[in-house]
Amino acid sequence: MRGVKCPLCDSWVERMTTRKTSEGVTRRYQCANEHRFNTHERVDMRSVIVAAPQTSERMLDDGQD
Ligand SMILES: [Zn+2]
Repeated sequence: MRGVKCPLCDSWVERMTTRKTSEGVTRRYQCANEHRFNTHERVDMRSVIVAAPQTSERMLDDGQD
């Protein structure tokens, strides 16, 4: 799937893993700034839900600035 960007910083992402389940496909991504997030794609509804990103210590440090 092309066009996936980080929901936090809108940077390019690298797909880490893909898991197929009975409900659809779950993909794990990590962006250029090391933000990690998952997408859950349900085949029947063709919808993509972006799960809450896992905040890193680095990101929290940036937020304090
Ligand atoms: Zn990011």
